[in-house]
Amino acid sequence: MTDHWYPAYIGLGSNLGNPALQLETAFGLLSEIPWTRLIRRSSLYRSEPFGGVEQPDFVNAAAALITQLSAGELLRELQNIENKCGRERGDVQWGPRTLDLDLLVYSDHEIDETDLIVPHPGISERNFVLLPLGELAPELHAPNLGRIASLDTHISDLAVSRIK
Ligand code: ADP
Ligand code: MG
Repeated sequence: MTDHWYPAYIGLGSNLGNPALQLETAFGLLSEIPWTRLIRRSSLYRSEPFGGVEQPDFVNAAAALITQLSAGELLRELQNIENKCGRERGDVQWGPRTLDLDLLVYSDHEIDETDLIVPHPGISERNFVLLPLGELAPELHAPNLGRIASLDTHISDLAVSRIK
């Protein structure tokens, strides 16, 4: 725990069970993380799966938080929520999951540890992250990435559409 309030952006994704409902539950749990406030949530976006594994479409979204937790402490809270929502560690990478929570950006920090890389390395190449994050924070400048709204989106490569 720190004595500062840091802005943090979270990416949410689900493609098992009822994904939209999973994300509703996840937003509720994000709002209950200690020393943290949920400031804003994005719309929900439907996206085609990524990584060549045959599986249902994903529903993705982003959340803006402020937190007094360190990035590592916040990651552990996100993993607790994933586990609560039935995520099993050891699931196939890029395979189906009930809930995936990624720490996209944590203030202006750059973190490169074995279990935590921030900004999340997938941001610039994933429309299903860029679109919801861009809805919340188009003017955000993330370390090494620059302004979110100026990052290229490759809509034609991977179909992502706003559903709600
Ligand atoms: P992905 O989200 O890329 O589909 P996973 O959720 O399966 O992959 O990956 C989980 C692992 O990624 C965790 O063990 C976690 O330690 C690591 N990780 C590294 N950086 C981050 C981050 N910024 N946010 C969430 N998990 C991260
Ligand atoms: Mg993840």
